[in-house]
Amino acid sequence: GGGNSVRIFDPENRENIDFSKNIASLLRVAVGRDLVSLVYQPVKNVASGRIEAFEALMRLTAPDGTSVPPYVFIPIAERTGAILELGYWVIRRACEEILTREPDSLTVSINVSPVQLMAPEFANSVTAILREMEVPGDRLVFELTERLEMESEEDVAACINDLKLLGIRFWLDDFGTGFSGLSWLRFIEFDTVKIDKIFLRDCETREGRKMFRDIVQLVKNRGTNILVEGVETERQMAIVREFEIDYAQGFYIGAPKAIMHLKT
Ligand code: C2E
Ligand code: MG
Ligand code: MG
Ligand code: MG
Repeated sequence: GGGNSVRIFDPENRENIDFSKNIASLLRVAVGRDLVSLVYQPVKNVASGRIEAFEALMRLTAPDGTSVPPYVFIPIAERTGAILELGYWVIRRACEEILTREPDSLTVSINVSPVQLMAPEFANSVTAILREMEVPGDRLVFELTERLEMESEEDVAACINDLKLLGIRFWLDDFGTGFSGLSWLRFIEFDTVKIDKIFLRDCETREGRKMFRDIVQLVKNRGTNILVEGVETERQMAIVREFEIDYAQGFYIGAPKAIMHLKT
């Protein structure tokens, strides 16, 4: 709420209902009016020191020029279904960016909502976009989070398998938060697990460090690559090296920017 005051967002509050309605109508026109854009955050291969991928993050600008943060508009887009159109726009935009970056052969990772995976036409639409734009699927990664409950695990697994046949890789995002991340590991094989930034932050304490070690071990035992999110300091980068983490991402390596910079 500004200053030292904290206000909890109450969706039942009249003011907030109006606010959410405004965002919902903004989302309906956002793509057509050029109010959405992407920024790209580098992903570093810790052993080689090279930037191997960029994560595309969506930005929404209101007509008055203010920026609406994803934690505000993504849940509303998911509730209203606007995430479908926005999601296809993100895939197209990321593909355009990949094509302009030839011959760098960069990978771009995209955040994909469970709402998108549950749409019956999703796999076919993605297939059509890639074919039309002539982008090989192995240039794309889809990052999944478990913020929402899944209606049918079988349908989602089938959709993911179709997309894997195109060469698209899957990363599990925000591991260790929300619905825990473990339930998806039961039925989806991920290429890489992204450990949520809260765990690196907690490494300052003995207990936190132990927790971090356990989570890293759990992922390593499964033979899955590990990415640690939220690396903000040299000290945290040292921890990432000490634990032999495969990939790292965070402000220390590079903040999200409008252009993909290979040098950080
Ligand atoms: P995420 O996918 O886990 O993305 C990481 C978020 O952490 C980004 O916030 C990024 O700017 C921020 N971040 C990166 N490095 C650091 C760091 O070192 N420290 C800290 N404290 N934060 C860092 P952002 O861009 O606000 O996005 C928030 C979330 O919104 C994303 O979390 C993702 O779940 C969702 N999101 C963003 N773009 C899209 C999209 O195109 N589609 C969907 N479905 N969700 C999206
Ligand atoms: Mg992500
Ligand atoms: Mg994340
Ligand atoms: Mg997230």
